[in-house]
Amino acid sequence: MISTTLLVENKKMSNLTWFGVGGCSKYYLQPSSEENLVSFLKDNQLDLPIYPLGAGSNIIIRDLGFNGIIIHFNKLKEIFIDKQGIITAYCGAMDADVARFARNHSKTGLEFLIGIPGTIGGGIKMNSGAYGSEIKNILIDVTAINKNGILKSFTVKDLQLDYRTNKLSHEWMFLKARFKSSNGSKEQIQKKMKEIIQSRKMSQPTGQKTGGSTFMNGKNFKAWELIDNSGCRGLKNGGAVISNKHCNFIINENNATATDIETLGEIVRKKVFEKTGKKLKWEIKIVGEK
Ligand SMILES: Cc1cc2nc3c(=O)[nH]c(=O)nc-3n(C[C@H](O)[C@H](O)[C@H](O)COP(=O)(O)OP(=O)(O)OC[C@H]3O[C@@H](n4cnc5c(N)ncnc54)[C@H](O)[C@@H]3O)c2cc1C
Repeated sequence: MISTTLLVENKKMSNLTWFGVGGCSKYYLQPSSEENLVSFLKDNQLDLPIYPLGAGSNIIIRDLGFNGIIIHFNKLKEIFIDKQGIITAYCGAMDADVARFARNHSKTGLEFLIGIPGTIGGGIKMNSGAYGSEIKNILIDVTAINKNGILKSFTVKDLQLDYRTNKLSHEWMFLKARFKSSNGSKEQIQKKMKEIIQSRKMSQPTGQKTGGSTFMNGKNFKAWELIDNSGCRGLKNGGAVISNKHCNFIINENNATATDIETLGEIVRKKVFEKTGKKLKWEIKIVGEK
């Protein structure tokens, strides 16, 4: 049966997330095609929560692991373009690959994706953005799938994408998405992408075990400023540290556990609240058993 042969039991998750921490997932599935995924979900008899995973660049999986099924979308990554110039990407495609695909077809508007180290699925979930654009600006619609293997299409309006959030029920996992773009010059697109990459190297820690921005900005504040003003730059807990370069980033500096990282985040939230009265909200998703 497809359902059982595809499933891996007690899968170690730490090397599948950027932080490099966390326990095992009770079950793990890495579908290699849409049909694979649909038939697994239709046949699945396990009464356990299901959680989609992309590139693991915005997530902490707790040390005690996840008592459910993690569906890893990273093999569903085909990208194509139709005669009208609409780009379709499966949701396990890396954002940067979609940016390069658009450039190769002289399509502009997707350059910002070059700097986001996640997948299209994670990008839609988080309405990821950078350098003046966000997923909301380029997405036309997405085909999603639920735990019963039912497919449904949602327009960008249906999703109500906002700063790092969407309003769609958690029961839906993103499978493939269609993006709009305009015709552009390959050279100009390449130039813009190069500038984005350079600029990120200057402002963010690179080559580190991190989850990107830890907390969301508020309407009237930048999370990093509150963290800095509350004396948290460089703060450590176990093997985890608040980056000196960008203090809204937590780094797994020295064999941190997921608990070290989560606790450091909570210490920062407390210090910021005591100093400014503002409650920081986690941007990073935290998953698993306590
Ligand atoms: C160095 C660094 C720099 C970063 N810079 C930026 C930036 O500039 N802008 C920005 O917005 N973010 C940034 N991030 C955060 C992160 O890269 C984005 O949020 C990214 O879109 C997450 O994608 P992912 O595939 O890694 O998602 P994951 O971390 O795997 O998952 C994040 C969330 O998305 C959900 N998800 C993943 N795939 C699917 C799917 N197919 N269907 C439904 N839900 C899904 C997961 O369940 C989880 O809730 C940065 C992170 C790092 C480490």
